[in-house]
Amino acid sequence: MDFKSLANEYQTPLYVYDFDYMKAQFDELKEAFRGRKSIIAYAVKANSNLSVVKHFAKMGSGADCVSIGEVRRALLAGIAPYKIIFSGVGKTDDEIREAIEKDILYINLESEAELGRVELVAKELGKQARISIRVNPNIDPKTHPYISTGLHDNKFGVDLNSAKRMYIKAKNSENLDPVGIHFHIGSQLTELDPIRESAEIVADLVRSLQALDIELKFFDIGGGLGVKYKDEETIKPYDYAQAILGTLTAMDMTILCEPGRFLTANAGYFLTKVLYEKQNGEKKFVVVDGAMNDLLRPSLYNAYHGIEAITDNTEDEREVDIVGPVCESGDFFAKDYKLPPLNHNDLLVVKSAGAYGFGMGSNYNTRGRSAEVAIEDGKARLIRRRESFEDLIALEQEFLEN
Ligand SMILES: *Cc1c(COP(=O)(O)O)cnc(C)c1O
Repeated sequence: MDFKSLANEYQTPLYVYDFDYMKAQFDELKEAFRGRKSIIAYAVKANSNLSVVKHFAKMGSGADCVSIGEVRRALLAGIAPYKIIFSGVGKTDDEIREAIEKDILYINLESEAELGRVELVAKELGKQARISIRVNPNIDPKTHPYISTGLHDNKFGVDLNSAKRMYIKAKNSENLDPVGIHFHIGSQLTELDPIRESAEIVADLVRSLQALDIELKFFDIGGGLGVKYKDEETIKPYDYAQAILGTLTAMDMTILCEPGRFLTANAGYFLTKVLYEKQNGEKKFVVVDGAMNDLLRPSLYNAYHGIEAITDNTEDEREVDIVGPVCESGDFFAKDYKLPPLNHNDLLVVKSAGAYGFGMGSNYNTRGRSAEVAIEDGKARLIRRRESFEDLIALEQEFLEN
């Protein structure tokens, strides 16, 4: 990819997404579940640019959404309502109402209290809401604590006994239709055993529900497939599918899979220009024009991103901290990272930036968010323009008079 000309044409900081890579990832995962009814529901929060979501819609993808805003995005981008699911621990009545009215595939419930709200809203609408319950299998996914979700310490899902109680309640309700079961134990998973163990626990629950005449159609295995940021051993989609399917013998359920990171992380590059180098005592810094408001993962999770310098300088590498202009010490992309000496306007390419990159961005320090560019079939096109100062003040300006 010609990052230099992309940076010249669209300026920096800039997000660039390889759409062909996203498609290859999608195809590989879909293929892994071949011979089985399956829906891949792209987790919109990983990268919610409308053109990205539309790209997946064209592949036949569904969407896993965690707010009604994401549901609207998915519909706008052309994802069929019957392939959209709505997850998340806290849904407002308005969100629940809209999800039922839009007739999406199902709402994923994460508590008994939520079941009560959904039932009430469905009743008000005179409708039956399709639901699934997110089970928390209490399995340690062996990932970063901030992205672990499958332990009872985490706020997500309900324990097995509560789940069972909720299914019985739902079955007996005129306004609820239990169609699915769901688990999602964490993100950036690189070990198969916790996934297999969780699937076994959840499959057992499905069997015990069958005995109660509760027949579920969708076995929703969540997302979480890890990717290579540095030197991680990742799970192969084929092995992943086999592990899941192995727990479902003689059960004719449709698999629902909700990958986010797997589909987009390594499709994305964040381009940023070098402003200057500086040194405080022994410590060397490279100051760039991108910042934590553009790409938060290093600041939030101490996440590693590979960074490549595009420079004519051929002198020896040395260890530097790569930092942005934001007024926070936590504003960095890498620490003690080996790079050659850099000049003003040299380009840094931050890799694996296609998931949880732009979407976690903000306008902190009154910085407009970056532009986003798609590369498809070797051609680049803008899919979001850079935010201007006028964009940033648009919702405040009218109140200046007061
Ligand atoms: C975040 C999330 C996903 C996607 O996670 P990835 O690690 O990006 O694959 C899937 N399902 C649910 C419920 C989520 O919250």
